Amino acid sequence: MSYDEFYVKSVIRSLQDWPEPGVVFRDITPIFKDPKAMRMVSDAFIQRYVDSDITHIACIDARGFLFGSIMAYQLNLPLVLVRKKGKLPGETIHQEYELEYGTSAVEMQSDALQAGDRVLLFDDLIATGGTLLAACTLINKLGAEVIEAAALIDLPDLQGSTRIQELGIPVYSLLAYE
Ligand code: AMP
Repeated sequence: MSYDEFYVKSVIRSLQDWPEPGVVFRDITPIFKDPKAMRMVSDAFIQRYVDSDITHIACIDARGFLFGSIMAYQLNLPLVLVRKKGKLPGETIHQEYELEYGTSAVEMQSDALQAGDRVLLFDDLIATGGTLLAACTLINKLGAEVIEAAALIDLPDLQGSTRIQELGIPVYSLLAYE
């Protein structure tokens, strides 16, 4: 089934002023109720990475887990989790990052990756890029390299993908909402 951007966009739901005034929330959950859209998105990412030399997929809590898992299964690659702080057992490392109001933090298990690992980092959406950049820092701290940061949706006006690219990390998204 070939990828049809118009179709996938028609399935994604946009909610004005949620979770707070001024935000347009791009809700990807309807994609998972629509096997055709789910397959199109999954296949597009799988096709992009099938011949790459990535060794691991790292995906971000929580919506990043959904397509991250499908890709890891189909590409037969290990999947590692970047979670919100306090969710992972055992020895962990964490990285704080700025939100519009306050800070947040992401965490990984210390043995999730090692030097030489070549990682595809995946989340559902890039807004300011803060989450993905914090995840890149963690991956680098473990000695691994981010080969590409990928998301289903980019919001280019918020400059997140530009910030990531400025650090020399390639960024890929299937869709953009201006
Ligand atoms: P950021 O760190 O600013 O790039 O924000 C990215 C994270 O916040 C992703 O994990 C998204 O799930 C979530 N997010 C931020 N803005 C939106 C939005 N407008 N619609 C849906 N999710 C969003």
